[in-house]
Amino acid sequence: MSEPPPRPAPPTPHAPPLAETAAPPAQAAVGAGAVRGCATPTHDLAIIGGGPAGLGAALEARRLGLRVVVLEREAEAGGIPRHCGHPPFGLREFGLPLTGPAYARRLVAATRAAGAEIRTHTAVVAIEPGPRLVLATPHGVDAVDARRVLIATGVRETTRAGRLIGGTKPGGVMNTATLQGLVYLNRQRPFVRPIIVGTELVAFSAILTLRHAGIRPLAMVEPTAHVTARWPSALLPRLLGIPLWRGTELVAIEGTERVTGVTLRSASGTRHVATDGVVLTGGFRPEATLVRQSHLTLDPATGGPEIDQFGRTCDPAIFAAGNMLHPVETAGWCHREGRAIAARIAESLAGALPPPEPALRLRPADGVLYAVPQRIVPDARTTGAIQLRAAAPVRGRVVVRTSASVRGPAVDTVPERRILMPLATIPPDAAGEAEIAIEPDGRHR
Ligand SMILES: Cc1cc2nc3c(=O)[nH]c(=O)nc-3n(C[C@H](O)[C@H](O)[C@H](O)COP(=O)(O)OP(=O)(O)OC[C@H]3O[C@@H](n4cnc5c(N)ncnc54)[C@H](O)[C@@H]3O)c2cc1C
Repeated sequence: MSEPPPRPAPPTPHAPPLAETAAPPAQAAVGAGAVRGCATPTHDLAIIGGGPAGLGAALEARRLGLRVVVLEREAEAGGIPRHCGHPPFGLREFGLPLTGPAYARRLVAATRAAGAEIRTHTAVVAIEPGPRLVLATPHGVDAVDARRVLIATGVRETTRAGRLIGGTKPGGVMNTATLQGLVYLNRQRPFVRPIIVGTELVAFSAILTLRHAGIRPLAMVEPTAHVTARWPSALLPRLLGIPLWRGTELVAIEGTERVTGVTLRSASGTRHVATDGVVLTGGFRPEATLVRQSHLTLDPATGGPEIDQFGRTCDPAIFAAGNMLHPVETAGWCHREGRAIAARIAESLAGALPPPEPALRLRPADGVLYAVPQRIVPDARTTGAIQLRAAAPVRGRVVVRTSASVRGPAVDTVPERRILMPLATIPPDAAGEAEIAIEPDGRHR
């Protein structure tokens, strides 16, 4: 997704601020187990998730005069950055390299100052047609009816169970996000010589977090021959004297109560290494349980909901934004995308979006891991871009194969790098099924 074109004047430029935390009486009165019947929508827009994408959307929606509520399951809004005690966050939004918590506080303050209601301790447990959201709150089960819904629930790293690692199940095995919560929020030191698994950008965030806690990792291990994150991230372990073992896979974890060692496999065989912790980094998947259990169509390639170029799912009253759509981008990117999609939601409320059908349906093919949006609706003002990732390092050209072949940008890329293909290159009347692929030019990277 890219920045929206300049928008016409907002419908209600100085909409009155709304209450910040107090739930409307109708909702507060609902007790455990009882969900009131369908009601007149209390909000123009209900946003699930108070991370950078959701807060960006709330800010823009308020600027455009909409009645907005943000529903956040945690004790505070701010999303993943709340847990990341290191910079750089906020360069795009605030022009400063902030730490994650400072950035999150600024986002929340700006959103509240714009008059958006943020309800914390409020988990959305179901999305229903209407749209209606079923909530779990400290006061019991509740519901919100809104004219539009935005899903901005972010991503999570692949857990140990999802990685099929053998061995025992001792304490001291965790993802980066958990490590960051323990170190930055709880001020704990969960181990002293852990091993870091993976080399996506987030693995380097894990190194910074460990350093913050005075913990020196034993090594980083990467199953492939290449560091996944872009240069110069790979310099960090070298600068800090942390061994980087490429072509090495973690096959088993040992220990009873605590980790005592791991078994690693590489081309030279299997070996045992003594360590007291394992940090499993990356392997991001959208936090999409809600979507899977709803009436919305899921894209198997991203793991998130299928959308069109306006962020609209197959239910035209429900939109999505942020990392939920594309694992995984920076906080600044997600915030900007949230703002752009909120502007589309305002257009939808004003009846100014084109109908969802007919549409061109994009399916990732040769060399493409995923592409977003998955549906492109003919639109005279088509701006923005198809956002895609390569499945493996490649040099070549992006092509969209419709009835003819549409040439996209030349690429020299790796899976961590985002590729943008302008929507304007797609013929405006294209409809039906299409493949998006990367045709290699025969040169090796
Ligand atoms: C370890 C780590 C380090 C990072 N470091 C950087 C960095 O240095 N710089 C940078 O720019 N980016 C960094 N990022 C990326 C950045 O954090 C993300 O791009 C950004 O947070 C994504 O925003 P989001 O709003 O899409 O999702 P999130 O930030 O994940 O927010 C989603 C929100 O939705 C809430 N939620 C989920 N499900 C529900 C539900 N059912 N009901 C209610 N609420 C729900 C969650 O509690 C959360 O608050 C890092 C990410 C990680 C994991």
